[in-house]
Amino acid sequence: MSATDAACQQCIRPDCGQRYALGEALVACAACGGLLDVAYDWNRLPVPKTLADFEKFWSRRADPLAFSGVWRFYDLLPFAPRDRVVTIGEGQTLLQRADRVANYVGSNPGRLYLQYEGMNPSGSFKDNGMSAAFTHAHWIGARRAACASTGNTSASLALYSCVSRLMQAVIFIGSGKISYGKLSQALDYGALTVQIAGDFDDAMQRVKEVSQQLGIYLVNSVNPFRLEGQKTIMFRVLEALGWEVPDWIVVPGGNLGNSSAFGKAFAELKQLGLIDRVPRLAVINATGANTLHGLYNGQGVRWNDGRIDQNKIAAFYAEMDEHKRRASTIASAIEINRPVNLDKCLRALAVCNGVVRETTDQEILDAKAQVGAGGLGCEPASAASVAGAKQLVAEGVIGRDERVVCILTGHQLKDPTATVAYHTTDQEQFNKVLGARGVKRASFANRAVAVSNDLDEIVRAIQLYG
Ligand SMILES: *Cc1c(COP(=O)(O)O)cnc(C)c1O
Ligand SMILES: [Zn+2]
Repeated sequence: MSATDAACQQCIRPDCGQRYALGEALVACAACGGLLDVAYDWNRLPVPKTLADFEKFWSRRADPLAFSGVWRFYDLLPFAPRDRVVTIGEGQTLLQRADRVANYVGSNPGRLYLQYEGMNPSGSFKDNGMSAAFTHAHWIGARRAACASTGNTSASLALYSCVSRLMQAVIFIGSGKISYGKLSQALDYGALTVQIAGDFDDAMQRVKEVSQQLGIYLVNSVNPFRLEGQKTIMFRVLEALGWEVPDWIVVPGGNLGNSSAFGKAFAELKQLGLIDRVPRLAVINATGANTLHGLYNGQGVRWNDGRIDQNKIAAFYAEMDEHKRRASTIASAIEINRPVNLDKCLRALAVCNGVVRETTDQEILDAKAQVGAGGLGCEPASAASVAGAKQLVAEGVIGRDERVVCILTGHQLKDPTATVAYHTTDQEQFNKVLGARGVKRASFANRAVAVSNDLDEIVRAIQLYG
């Protein structure tokens, strides 16, 4: 029996539960419109006895599947035949103990860690998922793959397309809201780039329509296979902690694919008896894009064993449209109005006894500066995790001595405009880029020292400031 006989796609709504073959390219349940999972019949699959069994792959780096930080966990995402896996070496990431950031957050020394996903080939966590979605797409014979993106998904798709030479990438971006770091990647890697006059949610709507009409494979995080790849972020966190489960995972929330994948990862590990408890999950919105916060904390919407109150959600969105409220935050990667994985995220929050918070652009940029000063830079959206952790420690929800892992979702160089505007001496530049976002001060600015081109003056400046 091949591993893939024991897996299928399945609607996440318990009162539906419709199953679909792995070979189908779907973005929703055809019966009820619900999101789809990749579901496994673990009893018929070779599951490791302990997580430490995965360590045997460390010495086999010449084998691309053992080298990949996603596919060395193949046994926990066995939806495709091994010989059809597409990998470009993703998942070589780093869990760093970050005492300086711990101090900022209010955690005790040695208790706060940063999971740095910026080390992926395209510079963000999206590669974990893209490797899995690409594997599925290639396996079922797709020739073109598309996504709507705030930037990192498109950078990742473009990279996988050009390295693997298996598919043409078609990317949809909104106008104006994409950082140059990300756009430059898509263009350099040769993706067909369609810029739509609208925001992410408009692009998302269109890419769904176009994919359906032209039979293009969709790799947004409504794609259930992408989330299988993103589960491995949690496997690597556990690996780096010697297979110990931390107390908290803190993650920025945009389309909520990551938080959903994390919840699924822990639910499955628990079910398989590979961990004895699950960590708590904190999902952090930006104040300017706080749909999850509004629904979870404002409206009290919960997973509720799969009976989510969809009427409350519909009313929330109707009100949003009526008042023309559109997401707006410096953290462009989480600037999302209607998170596509909302239902799955609610399930993850139930599995992990989760909490949701929102954090302002001011807090995000200050946290980002602290992350940078601590050694690993990140893009603005990533720092929402650190800003959120700080808030939760201040509230006493996260204990100072609890072990916390903040996910740094994207590389520091993804969005240099925001970083330079924050540190700059040029008030006009600061106001132009950040002032409109309600950012008033750069609490941790590292200002450039301006001197004339004069040796004595340069020496004096260094003696004065150095
Ligand atoms: C995509 C992205 C996010 C949001 O992740 P979701 O899974 O959509 O919630 C956060 N940070 C960065 C850097 C991203 O690229
Ligand atoms: Zn269904």
